[in-house]
Amino acid sequence: METFFQVHEATIRLSFFLGIFAVMASWEVLAPRRALTVSKSLRWFNNLLLIALNTTLLRLLFPAAAVGMAAFAGTHGWGLLNYFDIPMWLAIPFAVIAMDFVIWLQHVMVHAVPALWRLHRVHHADPDYDMTTGARFHPIEIILSMLIKFATITVLGPPVIAVLIFEVILNGMAMFNHGNVRLPLALDRALRWFLVTPDMHRVHHSVEDDEANSNFGFNLSWWDRLFGTYRDQPRGGHDGMTIGIHRYRQPREVSWLPGMLMLPFHGRITDYVINRRQWSIHGDGKA
Ligand SMILES: [Zn+2]
Ligand SMILES: [Zn+2]
Repeated sequence: METFFQVHEATIRLSFFLGIFAVMASWEVLAPRRALTVSKSLRWFNNLLLIALNTTLLRLLFPAAAVGMAAFAGTHGWGLLNYFDIPMWLAIPFAVIAMDFVIWLQHVMVHAVPALWRLHRVHHADPDYDMTTGARFHPIEIILSMLIKFATITVLGPPVIAVLIFEVILNGMAMFNHGNVRLPLALDRALRWFLVTPDMHRVHHSVEDDEANSNFGFNLSWWDRLFGTYRDQPRGGHDGMTIGIHRYRQPREVSWLPGMLMLPFHGRITDYVINRRQWSIHGDGKA
């Protein structure tokens, strides 16, 4: 069974990706939440090109992917869940939740560490918010994420199926919670008790730095609630808020692929990090 998942990993993930892509794309076209500032064809062409570039790069560098790493850890008895005799029904949800927590921590880290924020800018500089924003990351951040995933798997020793489930959920949820869509308010409220909804993650894409340093979760909303980074709604409202980064607004650098790839290499290294906030109680005092 494990070998089956290993062999068909790419096909299983691609099928889910295409299925969820089709649903979300139709939803965004039929009932968009916000009007886009850049044409959809320009956005999609460049964002999807970056996603294709990242997928190719990952396949070349790490052909066995995270699932392969889990199988390798399994055969060598590495990691917590391989060391102890834990039943599958417990090991699978535990591993999926633990990996989600690590992704949350990693996301907080790329906002906090100046050099890493430079890479993560590519995700935030998107002046609009739609499902293609969800996978728009600089190739170096994508490689870093994979290495962190490998390290996590080595320590955790998750079952192969748990890693596959996690990858499918992460991918699907990234498309869902970056969706330019509107959920009925009551449904949004109910889902938010455990999942990240499009309205919840949209707050994180605000140009306001206190809002951008909130709601780091991709799947479970628990981590932000538990660790104090949860923010309910954007001050400007979902229609009035500005999405992106203050200083990076030129279509050439935020909407076209060559500009996006160069984005980490602009400016001084101290720009826009949590210890260099623009506001202060000694200054204008507006938090
Ligand atoms: Zn972020
Ligand atoms: Zn995002």
